Amino acid sequence: MLEGRVVRAAGGFFTVLADDGIKYLCRARGNLKRGQSALLVGDKVTFNPEVNQSSLSNPQGIIEQKLPRKNRIDRPPVVNVDQLIIVTSQKEPSGDWQLVSRLSVIAEREILQTIVCINKIDLIDQDEVKAVQTQLELYPYPLLYTSTKSGIGIEDLKAVLRDRCSVFAGPSGVGKSSLLNVIQPGLSLQTGEVSEKIRRGKHTTRHAELLTLESGGSVVDTPGFTRLDFHNIKPTELAAYFPEFEPLQGCCSFRDCRHLTEPGCAVLDGIGKSVNPMRYEHYKYFAAEIGKGEEDYR
Ligand code: GDP
Ligand code: ZN
Repeated sequence: MLEGRVVRAAGGFFTVLADDGIKYLCRARGNLKRGQSALLVGDKVTFNPEVNQSSLSNPQGIIEQKLPRKNRIDRPPVVNVDQLIIVTSQKEPSGDWQLVSRLSVIAEREILQTIVCINKIDLIDQDEVKAVQTQLELYPYPLLYTSTKSGIGIEDLKAVLRDRCSVFAGPSGVGKSSLLNVIQPGLSLQTGEVSEKIRRGKHTTRHAELLTLESGGSVVDTPGFTRLDFHNIKPTELAAYFPEFEPLQGCCSFRDCRHLTEPGCAVLDGIGKSVNPMRYEHYKYFAAEIGKGEEDYR
């Protein structure tokens, strides 16, 4: 019995990348094909390699068991993802930091590590870089400054992707696909438009695939988190998805403090000291949005 990971699923077959680096084309036991326990890309599995003549050049096997999952994202449907690389830019298109926070909240809920990559850094001058860095003081996530044109930061991004499974997200046009292509020429992300065309043209749903990087790690071949509303996040949960509030937990005067207008609020007191002011504004905005959603629901 070998262990491996499903990197592709199509037509009832699963491509399993085994721990020894060999890819096996596998079928699965019936109970792993349907319903709740159906296998998804990213699943870790145990499987039995088949031993016969053709299996020498064309390794095959049968998946016996699905190992426990760490997490699951829905769009695209992939499990056991380690981290979200949120890509943004300051120019072409201009930076949307609220969108970055929105994505990080969703990532926190899915127990994904978040890394923010500010791409197209070649388009802004030194003063603008300084201004961005000032705006991002006390930022709670690792920041990478990259350019696919000048090559700045690409080695750092490779290092971040190594030995982990990552999904890219961010607005269209910021350079997600280009980044992957400079990391490994020939690889690029399936864009929304392309998969939309395939969907409309053939009535088939494109399934995500895990791309293995030569420099180490794997990347989901489709950008994630295209659904950006906070469905099923409760107002009381939101603060937990702002990791910079964590050290202040229990320090507010009121135990059920929402960190909005309450007196003696440690988060409000912490703005500019341990809480980035822009991030707090995003929190306030999201709290209002979720609060309003709750009212509409009632
Ligand atoms: P995606 O939609 O996020 O996948 O973005 P793409 O990778 O398709 O890139 C959108 C456009 O931005 C393309 O014309 C790229 O050539 C350009 N681009 C990507 N990265 C950079 C960069 O670092 N600097 C500059 N100046 N342009 C870039
Ligand atoms: Zn508070």
